[in-house]
Amino acid sequence: MTKTYRIAAIPGDGIGKEVLPVGQRVIDLVAQKHGFTVEWTEFDWSCERYHETGRMMPEDGIEQMKAFDSIYLGAVGFPGVPDHVSLWGLLIPLRRELDQYANVRPVRLLNGINSPLAGRGSDDIDMIIVRENVEGEYSEIGGRVYQGTEHEAAIQESILTRRGTDRIMDYAFNVAKTRKRKHVSSATKSNGIIHTMPFWDERFAAAAERHPGIGTAQFHIDIMTANFVLHPDWFDVVVASNLFGDILSDLGPAVAGSIGIAPSANINPEGKYPSMFEPVHGSAPDIAGKGVANPVAAVWTAAMMLEHLGESGAAADIERAIETSLERADTKTRDLGGTADTAGSEAAILAALS
Ligand code: ATP
Ligand code: MG
Repeated sequence: MTKTYRIAAIPGDGIGKEVLPVGQRVIDLVAQKHGFTVEWTEFDWSCERYHETGRMMPEDGIEQMKAFDSIYLGAVGFPGVPDHVSLWGLLIPLRRELDQYANVRPVRLLNGINSPLAGRGSDDIDMIIVRENVEGEYSEIGGRVYQGTEHEAAIQESILTRRGTDRIMDYAFNVAKTRKRKHVSSATKSNGIIHTMPFWDERFAAAAERHPGIGTAQFHIDIMTANFVLHPDWFDVVVASNLFGDILSDLGPAVAGSIGIAPSANINPEGKYPSMFEPVHGSAPDIAGKGVANPVAAVWTAAMMLEHLGESGAAADIERAIETSLERADTKTRDLGGTADTAGSEAAILAALS
C-alpha cells in the first residue's frame, strides 16, 4: 500500500499565496517518483480572513491542525493588520499549543548563490540554527508601572525553565549527532544578563555531559554575530534562546545569500503534534501579486518537511533540483541576480526533478 501523508496547507498572505502552491506541486511530483501520496487540505487562514471575520483562524483552529501529519505554511501578515494580530492570532498559538519548541533553520551556501561574503574565505557555510521557540525572552509577563509619571517604567520578564532549556539543548545535540562535524555552539550573554543566561550556560554544560562525543563552544551573542560574518565556517549547530535565535536566524540567511531561499521548521520533536514548516521570509507586500517572488525558500522548506516525515530520498532530490535551477541566471529570480519570475524558477526546478 502506498503511504499517504495528510498535510494542511495554509498559503496565508501576500507572496505566501504565490510560493506555497509551487512547493505543493514540487512535492506532488517527487511523491510520484518515490511512491507516496499527499492528501492536501487547504486553509484560508490569513489577514484577508481577519478582515472578513475578525479572526485569523477559527476558534477551534488548533484542534483542526492536530489531525494532520504536518502543516505547510506560506506567510502571514499584511499592511492594514497589525503585526500582533497576525502573530498572536495564528503563528504563536500554533507554535505554542502544538508544542513546536524547536525552531530549526538550516543556513547553507548553495551552488549558484553568491554570498555577500564571497571571496573573503567564507564560502564554507553550512550550519543549522536551533532556536528555542516557546519560552525565554518572548513572554507575556510584564507591564508598566507608574504610568504617565516621570517614574514610569516598563518591565518584561524572561523565563527559562529547566525542562524547556534541557529539551532544546537535547534537540540541538541530537541534530549534531547526524552531522559530519558533530559540534554545537551556544549563544549566551551571561556577562550581562546575570540570571537567565548563567542558567542557560549551566544547562548547556549539563547537556554536553549527556551527549559525549559532541564538540562544544560558547559565545556571547555580540561576538557570535560578528563571527557569523567574519568566520561563518566556524559554526555547525548553533543553539540559542528565543530572542537570540530570532536575531541569528535572520543574520544567517543574509550571510548565505538571500531571504528568498531560507527555509525553516517549527518542530515538535516527540511527534505528539504535527510540526509546521514555513519559509523564513514574510508576505513581502512590496512584491506581492507581481509573480516575481522567489519560490526557492518554500521549495527548500518542502524538502525539510518531507525529510521530517521520513522521505529523505525525496528531500535530497528536491535539494539537488534547487541547486540545478540556481546554476543559470535565466532560471533564478531577481533577488539572486537572475532574470526569472516565479513561474520560470518553478519550471526549472520541476524540469530538474523529472
Ligand atoms: P515579516 O514581518 O513577515 O517578517 P518583513 O516585512 O519583515 O515580513 P519580508 O516580507 O520577508 O519581511 O520581506 C523583506 C524583504 O525581502 C522585502 O523587500 C521582500 O520583497 C524581500 N523578499 C522576501 N521574500 C522574498 C522572496 N521569496 N523573493 C524575493 N524577495 C523576497
Ligand atoms: Mg521580518
